[in-house]
Amino acid sequence: MKNTNNYDYLLSDLTKLTGVGKKTMDILKRKKINNIFDLLWRLPKSYTDRSLTCKINELKIGKIHTVKIIPIKYQFPRVRNLPNRVNCEDKTGKIDCIFFNSYEGYIRKILPLSEEITISGKITRFKDRYQITNPTYVSKDSTLIETKHNKYSLTEGITEKSYNKIITQILKNLPKLNEWHDDKILKQFGKESWNSSIIKLHDPINIANYKSNFYRRLAYDEILSSFLVNSQIRKKIKKIKKDSKKFTENSYKDTMAKLNFNLTDDQNKSLIDINNDLSSKSKMFRLLQGDVGSGKTIVSLISALNSIESGYQVALMAPTEILARQHFNLARQIFNKTINIKLLSSKIENYEKKEIIDGLKNNKVNMVFGTHAIFQKKITFSKLGYIIIDEQHKFGVRQRKLLSDKGGKNCDILLMSATPIPRTLTMSIYGDMDVSIIKEKPNHRKEVKTYSKIESKIDDVIKFVKKEIKEGNQVFWVCPLIEESKKIDHQSSVKKFKNLNNLFPGKVGLLHGKIDNEEKEVILNKFLNKEYTILVSTTIIEVGIDFPNANVIIIENANKFGLSQLHQLRGRVGRGSKQASCILMFKSNLSVNAKKRINILKNSNDGFKISEEDMKIRGFGDLLGFKQSGVKNFKLADPVHNEDLFFLAEKEIKIMEENNLEIKKYKALLKLYDQADIINDIV
Ligand code: ADP
Ligand code: MG
Repeated sequence: MKNTNNYDYLLSDLTKLTGVGKKTMDILKRKKINNIFDLLWRLPKSYTDRSLTCKINELKIGKIHTVKIIPIKYQFPRVRNLPNRVNCEDKTGKIDCIFFNSYEGYIRKILPLSEEITISGKITRFKDRYQITNPTYVSKDSTLIETKHNKYSLTEGITEKSYNKIITQILKNLPKLNEWHDDKILKQFGKESWNSSIIKLHDPINIANYKSNFYRRLAYDEILSSFLVNSQIRKKIKKIKKDSKKFTENSYKDTMAKLNFNLTDDQNKSLIDINNDLSSKSKMFRLLQGDVGSGKTIVSLISALNSIESGYQVALMAPTEILARQHFNLARQIFNKTINIKLLSSKIENYEKKEIIDGLKNNKVNMVFGTHAIFQKKITFSKLGYIIIDEQHKFGVRQRKLLSDKGGKNCDILLMSATPIPRTLTMSIYGDMDVSIIKEKPNHRKEVKTYSKIESKIDDVIKFVKKEIKEGNQVFWVCPLIEESKKIDHQSSVKKFKNLNNLFPGKVGLLHGKIDNEEKEVILNKFLNKEYTILVSTTIIEVGIDFPNANVIIIENANKFGLSQLHQLRGRVGRGSKQASCILMFKSNLSVNAKKRINILKNSNDGFKISEEDMKIRGFGDLLGFKQSGVKNFKLADPVHNEDLFFLAEKEIKIMEENNLEIKKYKALLKLYDQADIINDIV
């Protein structure tokens, strides 16, 4: 297997390994380990040093020792529950090997009398004699034992010994691959090859050696492979030629005249980006990223207007009906009456639905708002030219590509995300798209004041809420879970609702995931119309609903949320011009670390900065649910610690794109890192 360029070995399934039976294979498969390559990324957590041997009179009770002994006598009691025993000795003393559940024949084989055998295990003492119970290692060949043995976080059913055997076997058979990096890049990693890097990765002396060349090289491989895919997709989309959209400034001016504010600089910049794309000859595939409340909706609506003006239909997809309705209402306010816009909601009558469907088919309807229902099979557009997708959809690369294919070559795509994430993550997650960012908030906004309160001070909080309500303000009250769970002592929103409803009878609404959509909308509308002054809810209000009159948000058990999530929740208030407050409640006094985190929130309203801090604390995988979303997770690369490698990869990709370089030399890299299929599938 050595000295080949063949990566097939790495991609072959586990049957290639000697000593791996069906049972082990099934266990590993359950852990999503399907081939040999997958096994490489489970890293040793620590090791047991069995390299030092000693004499029996030097043994320490409770410690793991490796010792050379000579078996001198078997004791097989042949009584149930009594263990088998082998008396052993060296020149300095005696030790017994005790075996539970081992057959005589096996014991005779591994511990033949009068021969020198090396054993290793934990030493105990019983009635003046040293003992070693079920020794972990027993062998005539001491070199097999006298080394450092890796400890992995193991799956039940596989012993450390057999797992180490598997890994050793793989490392021994590791094929030598042709180098895919240039010398210039390789030098930055001390010329460490992929092969030697992998071997070092599993060497116990290198555990947690994140800054070493071999580790960084492997992290870079991983980053580059995912960036290469993004680059290919981007290239592919750029190649799609479309009919450019032609529009005038008029509709923009008309619309702005109907608003009581001016766009911020960042909004204007984003709009220019989008307009340039719409009027260009290439298909737009753009992400509009902006913190909560930064005003993405209006930007998207103005650009929609431009598309309509040039004769195309527009579809705006929101994650919930409530949001779709909100965007629809805003459009109704600011669009000229001659523009025919429709809301496709699950509630409308059948005849009305049919009317909308017909209208889309024959180009009578210019723009439709709705949830993913607007992309049902039975809905066909006469001339769809622009799809806008709002928030919360954490699509993976494949899904986004499918989406961009929808509507055909003339259809531009805008994805809006209210998830401010650090640039390294944007690069990895949305690297297939062009990106516009709205950083600045509309300037009339006052920063939300953030406080922390211990739960026992609830009376103070109620007092504060009463005062706010008197001034005509509304309150969000967020509790982490629906029903009180036995496992987690989350506050129950149901209980909270009852509690608050006693204090403010008839003025409290309750919203949680188990309430059906129609009911949900009724409740939200009651809150919007100020019938309710307090809305108790779980985190479902996180989605971008706009309640300009809500000024206070109280978040119970705030330590259950990450910083970014708290920031998003906080963004529900402070959208009007009044001073808004956010009260974070805690069950007990805050630890030093928790205080640090809360201070970040108190001192900053900048979502990008907060998400960066959040990522430093919690790791990127957990950041706002990207983990569950199927968006790619890295094996080694870390957007915080390997920031420089992300930028290096970005630079390399740019050079490749500018010089139109082929990606052929990265074939093995892409194959190994499971990216080749994506390229073949969608490029
Ligand atoms: P998000 O980016 O979170 O989707 P929205 O588009 O819902 O934000 O906008 C939040 C609120 O800010 C809305 O009430 C909107 O009318 C208002 N808004 C948007 N842009 C501006 C601006 N430039 N000046 C003042 N208010 C604005
Ligand atoms: Mg929004």
